[in-house]
Amino acid sequence: MNWLQRFMYGRHGPDQLMLGLFVLFLILNVVCLFLHGLPYLIFAVLSTAVLLFALYRMLSRKNEKRWAENQKFLSIMQPVFRSFQTGRARWADRKVYRYYRCPKCKATLRVPRGRGKICIKCPVCKTEFIKKA
Ligand SMILES: [Zn+2]
Repeated sequence: MNWLQRFMYGRHGPDQLMLGLFVLFLILNVVCLFLHGLPYLIFAVLSTAVLLFALYRMLSRKNEKRWAENQKFLSIMQPVFRSFQTGRARWADRKVYRYYRCPKCKATLRVPRGRGKICIKCPVCKTEFIKKA
C-alpha cells in the first residue's frame, strides 16, 4: 500500500465531480447495451472519454484547478442534491406530516397528518384552501 500512498501524494484524488463522472460513465455503458453499429461506437467512445477524464482529474497535480472544477460542479448540482435531501426528509416523516402545494403560489406546505378535513392557510400568499390531512 506504501507505493500507492507515495504515488497519490500531491495528486488531487477522488471528489464529488469524479463520482459524478463515474455515474455518467455507468449510465453511458448501460445505454451502450441497447445500441448497435455507429450509435454504439459513439456512446462507447464517449463513456471511455468520460472515464479517462475522471482518471485524469484524480491523478492531476493541479489541485487548485481541480478544486475550482469541483466547486462549479457542486454549484450546478445543488438543486439536484437538495431535491434528494428534501425527498428523503419527506419520506422519513411521511407518517406524521402531509405535504400540499399552494394552488396560488405553488409553495410547499407541510401539515400534520390525521386531522381530517382542515383549512390550510398558505403562510406566503395567505390563500386558504381545504384538504384532507
Ligand atoms: Zn401560497
